[in-house]
Amino acid sequence: MEDTKTLVIATGNPNKLKEIQSLLKDFPITIKSKDEAGLKSVEIEETGTTFEENALLKAKGIQQYTGTMVLADDSGIAVDALEGAPGVYSARYAGEEGNDQKNNEKLLEALKEVPMEERGAVFVCAIVLLFPDGRVLKARGVTRGRVGFEKKGQGGFGYDPLFKLPDGKTMAELTAKEKNAISHRGKALRKIKELLEEEFAKEIKE
Ligand code: IMP
Repeated sequence: MEDTKTLVIATGNPNKLKEIQSLLKDFPITIKSKDEAGLKSVEIEETGTTFEENALLKAKGIQQYTGTMVLADDSGIAVDALEGAPGVYSARYAGEEGNDQKNNEKLLEALKEVPMEERGAVFVCAIVLLFPDGRVLKARGVTRGRVGFEKKGQGGFGYDPLFKLPDGKTMAELTAKEKNAISHRGKALRKIKELLEEEFAKEIKE
C-alpha cells in the first residue's frame, strides 16, 4: 500500500534537516530523515546540469526505496564573473576530495584580479517534493551578494564566510535565525511550505 503520510528528507546534512523539520512541523505527516528511513549509506549521484534536475534525481533515487513523499534540495553558489560557476559543482569545486576550506581558497584564487564591484554572486536553492503518485512540487530561492576578498565570521557552512550581503556582513556573521530569514534555502522552503498547504487543502476538498 502507498504510504502517503510519511515524508522522507533526502539529506544527510543535519543543519538542513533541522531547518526543514522545524518549518514543516505543523503538517499532519511524519517527517523522517534519510538515516531514519534506513538509507544512511544510499548516495544518489548528482549528474544533472541544473539545481532542479539534481534535486529531482535525489528525490526519485530515495523514493524508489521508500515509496513515500520525498523532499530533496540542491544548492550552490553562482558567480557572475565566472559565468555562473561553480554552480551545480559548488560542493566539488576543489575536486572530489575537496572541502569547504579548499573550495573557498579556489574561489578566492579564481577571483583574485576581479574588483569588488564585479564580484556579484547568487546563492541558489532548488527544492522538490515528490509524491508517491508522481506529482512534483518545485520551489527556487535565490539570495544575491558579493564574494569578499577574505573569509569573515564563524557561522554557517560552505561559502558563507566569503558571501557578503548588501549590509557588508558575510552570511557567516549571521545567527542561524537571521540566515534562515534571508537565505536561498529559507526562501525556497517557505515557498514549498505554501505549495504543500495548497496541495493538502485540495485533498481535503476532493
Ligand atoms: P548541496 O546542496 O548539499 O549539494 O550543497 C552544495 C554546496 O553548495 C555546499 O557544499 C556548499 O559548498 C554550497 N552551499 C549550499 N548552500 C550553502 C549555504 O547556505 N551557505 C554556503 N554554502 C552553501
